[in-house]
Amino acid sequence: PPTIRKISERHDKVFVTGCLEPQVNGPRANAAFVVLARNKELDGVLQSIKSIERHFNRWFHYPYVFLNDGDFNSTFKEAVLNHTSAPVEWGKIEPEHWGFPDWVDEKVAKEGIAKQGDAAIMYGGMESYHHMCRFYSGFFYKHELLQKYKWYWRLEPEIKYFCDITYDPFIHMERENKVYGFTIAVKELKETVPNIFRYASAYKRLNNLTSQGLWEMFIEKPEEEEEGKAKLPKADPKYKKPLPEEILNSEPGAGGLPDIDPESMDGETYNMCHFWSNFEIAKLDWLRSKEYNDFFDMMDRSGGFWNERWGDAPIHSLAAGALLSVKDIHYFRDFGYRHTTIQHCPANAPARQLPRIPFLEMTTEDEEERKKEDEYWGHPDPVKENGVGCRCK
Ligand code: GDP
Ligand code: MN
Repeated sequence: PPTIRKISERHDKVFVTGCLEPQVNGPRANAAFVVLARNKELDGVLQSIKSIERHFNRWFHYPYVFLNDGDFNSTFKEAVLNHTSAPVEWGKIEPEHWGFPDWVDEKVAKEGIAKQGDAAIMYGGMESYHHMCRFYSGFFYKHELLQKYKWYWRLEPEIKYFCDITYDPFIHMERENKVYGFTIAVKELKETVPNIFRYASAYKRLNNLTSQGLWEMFIEKPEEEEEGKAKLPKADPKYKKPLPEEILNSEPGAGGLPDIDPESMDGETYNMCHFWSNFEIAKLDWLRSKEYNDFFDMMDRSGGFWNERWGDAPIHSLAAGALLSVKDIHYFRDFGYRHTTIQHCPANAPARQLPRIPFLEMTTEDEEERKKEDEYWGHPDPVKENGVGCRCK
């Protein structure tokens, strides 16, 4: 069962409370915004740039790296340059980083994609979307323009920030030894990732990785457990074995998913939870690590990016679950952020409110810890009093 941790052990306090003057003269991190986009998304891109410039980057001037599998046209480039004074770099994605790898049988993969279209799986029938998800899962950080950076902040078309961000999140991530930051965690559509967890879980087992507390965020919690009577199904020893060699080293066009009952794996089931990756601030060195790339390669070789419609969000999240610990993660609960229909509003997430994930429940000790913090800060609720919710519009 997940370990419930005290706030003091969580290392996840908000970086900054109270209204600040933007830290215009502070130190800067080696960081950039990363924007993957197409020319036709110009309007959405401008909306996002206007928003992040107004609420953050007009003071901080972090560079933008634009990436595209095609070429950005001059209309696109000029319009972007008209909306920021920060440096902008334009990158074209190499063919090896986008599309079908040579070990995949394209015909088989395309049939798989078409089937998902027929099944009305969200974006399932759209080949370019599969390429995009795979690119964001295992390739964007390999782009030559990103090599010089240590940190990235992902920016998508049609997003909105609605509170001023007056401190430098990169600097604070660095200072607090954080690896990955999120602002929204949601549940994935099951039909897009029916087998993703079997592989992620197999990776963890094959590499003898023991949970550092974060893995539990992604595990379905049986009802009984909530009532204090945990009764996980007994794992069938045959599922403790590594995945068959022929699947791990699958040949071109194989990409077949092995027949393992997900319900039987160590008694663990994926709860579909993931960090919503259209916003993320993370350390590139983690993505560049051998561990992350081994994870990606194994996931990739399964064929799940074509046979299913694995998103980069559950890929990043399950990799984090397998490789990182709770203290490596930062929840940017003070960022007002919206992408299409889902938003996160700091006013609804007071500074020390915890994300609703299993290992972050309040304990009695937490309540005491919280009281001590309140006394220290001198006010009971930094959001209501003078906190992170100010200057939101
Ligand atoms: P959604 O947020 O899941 O609905 O997906 P989006 O359509 O917003 O795509 C996610 C990100 O990938 C956005 O930044 C898009 O601009 C970008 N994107 C998606 N497909 C392509 C593509 O085929 N080429 C390029 N260059 N960018 C893409
Ligand atoms: Mn989007």
